Amino acid sequence: MKAIIVGGSVGGLMAALLLRKIGWDVTVYERAVGDLAGRGAGLGVSQELLDVMARAGAPFERSAGIAQAAHVWMARDGSIAYEHRRNLMASAWARVYQPLRAALPAASYRHAMVLERVDGTTAVFADGSRDTADLIVGADGVYSTVRRQFLPDVQPRLANYVAWRGIIEEKEVPPETLEAVSGRIVFCFPPKEMLLSMRVPGGVYFIWYRGVADLKELFTDASGKDHGMSIPPPLIRTEFVAEMKMHALDVLPAPIAAVVQKAPQPLLQAISDMESPRLTFGRVALLGDAAFVVRPHVAGGAGKAAMDARCLADVLQSERSIEAALAAYEQKQLDFGARIVRHSRYLGADLEGRPTQRDPRRIIDNYGAPNILHDVDLSRLG
Ligand SMILES: Cc1cc2nc3c(=O)[nH]c(=O)nc-3n(C[C@H](O)[C@H](O)[C@H](O)COP(=O)(O)OP(=O)(O)OC[C@H]3O[C@@H](n4cnc5c(N)ncnc54)[C@H](O)[C@@H]3O)c2cc1C
Repeated sequence: MKAIIVGGSVGGLMAALLLRKIGWDVTVYERAVGDLAGRGAGLGVSQELLDVMARAGAPFERSAGIAQAAHVWMARDGSIAYEHRRNLMASAWARVYQPLRAALPAASYRHAMVLERVDGTTAVFADGSRDTADLIVGADGVYSTVRRQFLPDVQPRLANYVAWRGIIEEKEVPPETLEAVSGRIVFCFPPKEMLLSMRVPGGVYFIWYRGVADLKELFTDASGKDHGMSIPPPLIRTEFVAEMKMHALDVLPAPIAAVVQKAPQPLLQAISDMESPRLTFGRVALLGDAAFVVRPHVAGGAGKAAMDARCLADVLQSERSIEAALAAYEQKQLDFGARIVRHSRYLGADLEGRPTQRDPRRIIDNYGAPNILHDVDLSRLG
């Protein structure tokens, strides 16, 4: 059996490796030229992601993650208002992508190939070339070409807030900050906002969710160009970065404000989510972010893609036909995707500007996706 996987990021690679393990001939077609590793940032790791990486023959290295034993709520004065014990692990996107990429033979991965459309079981590329297989997997991300062909009306839905992210290198981290974030993820809850700070490999990271009055203005550069919902970091207007850094001094405890203040080039992301009402179309299946997009609060984009890849490989192995396998895949993963998107909305509901019951303890206890994606079992890591 032969599969074409469109998209050679984390989701596409996991699907490709698992399908190879059950005897499929697989080719991954990726739009980007060259290695993707340089483009990623921080990533939450779940046990499901680690299990799938191991099964794919690309095990996650213990040294690639930093264990976090708790979520804590740090008040403005630096005191700990609440603690919830967990077994979390923070890593970097590249530390997940690289072993997956290395495990797939070079001949099975085609760079600079932009899918234009799907025609039955034939993939048609922008350079005019075509390839035909028994199955086509659309692992081509949030703006999936495959999904847009079959579900043109399904679009990511913007929430009314953004995430500012930044990282400072280990050598820049003040000792009181290092102490504050050691072994735990620190949450701060300024009015109508939420910030998380934690150690990641090589430094200390923050992600700060803030409501916005005018998204369009925030994503418009100094020359007046509107960048939609994704602005290259150097083009974020300096006055917005300066306002964010000043605000940190006003509302955050000092050790965490220092992370925001020192972050050299913050990134800006408009928060959105998306649900597909269907995942299969004949011999075509959607997987990962092409199928469902979760808000970052569940730290689960990669774990969710891993669960999709695992399910697809399992049903292709256990069912008698590809059609039966895809029907089973759709039934299981539609429910799974809808549940995790719903949970990510619940965690972000307080940030959308609607009056809600705001209890940081409730957020902290349910942060991530407990009962959907599980904490890491450290004893199982080498
Ligand atoms: C470079 C990069 C860096 C990332 N960094 C982070 C991070 O730091 N933290 C985090 O939580 N998440 C990150 N993500 C997102 C994360 O990978 C996903 O949320 C999740 O892992 C699901 O992955 P996915 O493979 O389904 O989708 P994605 O990771 O979005 O990958 C989709 C892939 O499809 C390719 N593609 C799109 N359209 C076409 C087309 N027409 N033809 C061929 N290929 C196409 C894209 O180039 C991309 O490589 C990153 C994604 C990418 C691509």
